[in-house]
This record gives sequence, C-alpha cells and structure tokens, in this order.
Amino acid sequence: MRHQEEPFIINNETPIYEAVKETPPVFSCLGVPITLKKRLLGFIIIAHEEKNYFSAQHTILLSSLASHISVSIENNLLYNKIRETANLDGLTGIFNKRYFFDTLSTYKDIDTQNYTIAMIDIDRFKKVNDTYGHLFGDIVLKKVIQIIKDNIRPIDIAARYGGEEIIIFFKDFTNPTSVETCLESIRYTIEQTPIIDDDIVTSVTASLGAYIKYNEVLTLKEAINRADSNLYICKDLGRNRIHFNKIN
Ligand code: GH3
Ligand code: MG
Ligand code: MG
Repeated sequence: MRHQEEPFIINNETPIYEAVKETPPVFSCLGVPITLKKRLLGFIIIAHEEKNYFSAQHTILLSSLASHISVSIENNLLYNKIRETANLDGLTGIFNKRYFFDTLSTYKDIDTQNYTIAMIDIDRFKKVNDTYGHLFGDIVLKKVIQIIKDNIRPIDIAARYGGEEIIIFFKDFTNPTSVETCLESIRYTIEQTPIIDDDIVTSVTASLGAYIKYNEVLTLKEAINRADSNLYICKDLGRNRIHFNKIN
C-alpha cells in the first residue's frame, strides 16, 4: 500500500476487503503519506463502503491533515531532544547535577529509603591538566566516566557533581560487600586503564567515598555530606582508595 510514498486512491468494483464482523465491505480507499524531512513515517488511510467515493478534494484535505501531524511529530521530537540535553552535561554526556537532584526530589520518602551514595574524585587532576593540557584532561574525564558507567546498573544514577567529581545514587544497594566490590572495581579499572592520545600515554587514579544509608532516617543532603567526608578521608590517607561507613 505504500504506493511510492505518494497519495493514492483505490476505487474497486469488487470489495478491497471483505466485511469484518459488523463492518461493511470496503470499495474505496484513500491514502496519504506522513513524511518528515523526506522520510516516510507512515500513511493515513481511510476507507469507504461506497464505490468511487474519494476525489482529489479528499486527497487535498487529508494531505493537509498529514502535514499537520508531521509538524506535531517534529515538534515532539525536538522537545524530547531539548529536554534530554538539558539533563546532560555537555562535555561528558553524563547527567548533570540538576537532573540528579530533580530526579531524587521525586522519590517518595527519600529520608527513610535504603540507598548508597558514592562520590568519586580524580586524584591530582590539576596536575594532569598542567602536564598534558586541558584538552587531554577532558579525555581523561570522559574515560573515567565511561568506566564508572560500565560498572553500575542501569537504575543507578551517576551525575557530574562538580569539575571532576561524580556522584552516584545506588537505590536499594546497601550490602557492604556488594558496595565494596562495585567501588573497588571502579577504582581498580581506573588505575589500570591507560589513557592514550597521540603520543601521550598515561593513567590516573581516583578516590571513592561512599555512604551506605540503611535503616535510618537521614536527608539526602546529609547522606551526600557523609559520602563527601569519606571521600576526603581517602584523600587524607593518600588517594587511590575507597572508604565507606561499615553498617551493622
Ligand atoms: P585531589 O587529588 O586533591 O582531588 O587533587 P586535584 O588536583 O584533582 O583537585 P582540585 O580540586 O584542586 O582540582 C581539580 C581540577 O579539575 C581543577 C580543574 O582545572 C580541573 N577540572 C575541573 N573540571 C574540568 C574539566 O571539565 N576538564 C578539565 N580538563 N579539567 C577540569
Ligand atoms: Mg581531584
Ligand atoms: Mg575535585
């Protein structure tokens, strides 16, 4: 029925298709394509039980409806794209801080929920920038973020919290052994991954502080503060390590 993506009219002497249940048989059919930037999205097809029912006038009318539908679809696609990019950090493509807090503010009873917050900060990142340049620093940041993404579940929310600081919200993920395994895997992979650009080959390390919130009432802000404090313990102890609270 695509008819070379052009409007078409079918007028038949015999039914185009037979009656289905109470619907009468169809003798006439009019189809108009819905296209967006020369791409066929679909057809509007209307059928009629009378023979020779549709005329050029009907085609004009239906084509006008099809172009309105096409504009609506395009607006909707653009709207979704803008909304999506508004949630993302321009450099790294990871969620931004606003999306992080907006999303968590919709979670009911966040103060009583069980979750883990992790804060990840690249070690001596300023030195990386100073040594290899800011553009190389950007490559490092993107690589570290990719490693983080590869080590978390789709339901976890990772966002760029500050310059080279990433925050992760792990919903219902509070088993200390599992948290340790996940954080340690991120830390180890970052440490072991060479970052290459032209003749530069180097690697970086990161520190990971986390707070496991389990069976306690606490605001999100306070949980983040505690994860942040644990991150600073890592820095004080010499960096390239993980630190989180032990729960009973
Ligand atoms: P520490 O181990 O204590 O975390 O040392 P550091 O040098 O990583 O910490 P500091 O917070 O002093 O420096 C962070 C640096 O990150 C400073 C800033 O220039 C750099 N930075 C922040 N955002 C970006 C970015 O988007 N791209 C690049 N290339 N560098 C960034
Ligand atoms: Mg740092
Ligand atoms: Mg920092």
